[in-house]
Amino acid sequence: MTQEPFTSGYTCLPEPVLTERTDALRDMMRACRLCPRHCNVNRPDGELGACRTAADPVVSSYGPHFGEERPLVGRMGSGTIFLTNCNLRCIFCQNCDISQLGEGRAVSVEEVARMMLELQRRGCHNINWVTPTHQVPMLVEATRLAAAEGLRVPIVYNCGGYESVDCLRLLEGIVDIYMPDAKYGDNAVGEQLSGVPDYWDRCREALTEMHRQVGALELDEQGVATRGVLVRHLVLPEDMARSSVVMQHLAALSADTYVNVMAQYRPAHRAREVSAIARPLSRAEYRAAVQAALDAGLRRLDERRLLV
Ligand code: SF4
Repeated sequence: MTQEPFTSGYTCLPEPVLTERTDALRDMMRACRLCPRHCNVNRPDGELGACRTAADPVVSSYGPHFGEERPLVGRMGSGTIFLTNCNLRCIFCQNCDISQLGEGRAVSVEEVARMMLELQRRGCHNINWVTPTHQVPMLVEATRLAAAEGLRVPIVYNCGGYESVDCLRLLEGIVDIYMPDAKYGDNAVGEQLSGVPDYWDRCREALTEMHRQVGALELDEQGVATRGVLVRHLVLPEDMARSSVVMQHLAALSADTYVNVMAQYRPAHRAREVSAIARPLSRAEYRAAVQAALDAGLRRLDERRLLV
């Protein structure tokens, strides 16, 4: 059964604006500064930076997904497109085959546009770009092509939270729902676990910009997200995520910031190299993080994934 699609912000932007944004984003790949790593490589010429991605889209898989947050899934699923590679190197990544080992295939921008249209035809409530940061110029171009063919559902920018504000500004009016991780409230932990020296500084700036653009999460009468920010925070053992610091910052943005406090941490990939995260999260640790969110004044917590 096909559901009437929502109208997304990008459908209100004239096509020349989408073309200008695509060109500006593609320009940023010539001495790449799409993300705060600022690798300065010329990706259209085939040079590779830390994300090991040139200038063509690389996709691992796509399809309706029912494992995302309830406001994205609704009844018909979130239309996920899993992008290959990542600008972070998290040692506990659960999708390291895709994010760090390159599982996926290079496709054309036109093919990505067809994927988006197919997901909408199948009734998905949104198009969910999973790990888009390093591929965003191609995704915006694909959105322009798909919009000309009738794409209407909201775009979800589902990212690791290590973002360039310059790049995010070019997404204003195109992305309807930002879904960033807020992984750790501490730069030193970001260096140890994700391989970047300034994770929390850049994440805070990105959260502020995302909130400026789209505000707190808005839901329709069926409880499906149409616009706004939805933050994910994976609680780590030994408070490595510095949950209290993160929650206080999110509450300062708005007490209505929607936060999924995630309990499902398990050591994966190379996590056992760091003793603090070499074991699953305890129930007490999870509860302490939820309490920190409540103490900070946050009113919209998704804490359904409680430990048993
Ligand atoms: S997107 Fe990739 S190449 Fe560009 S700055 Fe980030 S990690 Fe480096």
